[in-house]
Amino acid sequence: KEKLLELKNVVYSFHTYGGEVKAVRDVSFEVRKGEILGIVGESGCGKSVTAQCIMRLNPEPPGFFEGGEILFNGKDVLKMDKKELRQLRGGDIGFVFQDPMTSLNPTMRVGAQIEEVFIGRAGVSKKEVKEKALEIMKLVGISDVEKRYRQYPHELSGGMKQRVMIAIALVSRPSLVICDEPTTSLDVTIEAQILDLLLELREKLGTSIIMITHDLGVIARMCDRVVVMYGGKVVEQGTAQEIFYNTAHPYTKGLMDSIAKLDTKKGERLKPIEGTPPDLFFPPKGCPFAARCEYAMDVCKENPPYKYRLSEEHVTNCWLQHEFAPDTEFKKEEAV
Ligand code: SF4
Ligand code: MG
Repeated sequence: KEKLLELKNVVYSFHTYGGEVKAVRDVSFEVRKGEILGIVGESGCGKSVTAQCIMRLNPEPPGFFEGGEILFNGKDVLKMDKKELRQLRGGDIGFVFQDPMTSLNPTMRVGAQIEEVFIGRAGVSKKEVKEKALEIMKLVGISDVEKRYRQYPHELSGGMKQRVMIAIALVSRPSLVICDEPTTSLDVTIEAQILDLLLELREKLGTSIIMITHDLGVIARMCDRVVVMYGGKVVEQGTAQEIFYNTAHPYTKGLMDSIAKLDTKKGERLKPIEGTPPDLFFPPKGCPFAARCEYAMDVCKENPPYKYRLSEEHVTNCWLQHEFAPDTEFKKEEAV
């Protein structure tokens, strides 16, 4: 499948009063046309910042890119001017956040908020705007659209508000929609409906989706391929099948065990593995997971692991794949 987005060795940090935070440390992955890519990891692993980097949403300064490329349709986002970035953010890429209440304007009717995005877009007359707003509300499964159109956000349920946010993200018919924990604040039934809606939209519109989540259940339900992040780095990536059934990284395994172990309540922060994620003011020089990994060897503390390719799609950054490493359940003999 054709590449839509490609991150190559992206390094992004930001200055704070406490010092420099190394938030994204040499991250590489791609998103193909029409696919759903999951980015999974605990809170603070760098997944949201990575997503924001794709659209350059973080103010620069205090944030700054130290290296890498972010190619969207072959064009480097890091070299775009203001005008190109505006087209990228409101046009080519849509964004859906966790909490629709903070992104919707409480003083504006729902219809007007959707229309606002249409207004000013080339080729849409004022008359057409309402028609288009109602059309997109129907597309995202809002019933009784004439009534909803006139309501304010507080008159809508959480699920309905998230549908409105998705409608807004889709107005420009983006080729990529980035969803950052879009269902974390919703109860399970509504969550299922929103995830189904996103799947349906991918089918209908061919939109690529990046699904950022701490919830492997969401990944299992939605994603074609998965990127596992930890300590600002990608530690494993592969097809959803490979990540679940041929797990090659101890951190991924820890995430997986935590579902079975914790029976996590909705919205609860995932704390699957003993210990806490690394301090990104002083990132560890070796493997980011070394302090918590039960398999850690001396080499892990000193040297960042090589990238081992296990199949066309499946890659892991872990010393356990090294030919001299002891045999464990993670070692895949065919590692190349
Ligand atoms: Fe554990 Fe070492 Fe692999 Fe890191 S590189 S996950 S510390 S075994
Ligand atoms: Mg986040």
